[in-house]
Amino acid sequence: MLMGGPACESCGRPMATGTSGKYCDGCTDSRGQLLSYEQVHRGLVEREFMGRNGMQREQAEVAARNALSRMPAWQGGAR
Ligand SMILES: [Zn+2]
Repeated sequence: MLMGGPACESCGRPMATGTSGKYCDGCTDSRGQLLSYEQVHRGLVEREFMGRNGMQREQAEVAARNALSRMPAWQGGAR
């Protein structure tokens, strides 16, 4: 995680300065509402771990679940 700027509280990615709210574009709908855990998880699996890191899906799903379990948006309550 990059230091210094605001980070999305759902997926941990750094956000552009000046972004309002706690979540990045990838974690919210058009009204700025946080998406469901399943939607955020799938986005992280496909965009980040499979797309960027080239992981296999099963591996990517585990990695995304671990990453999300440390995020403020998903503490307690999330599977
Ligand atoms: Zn996010």
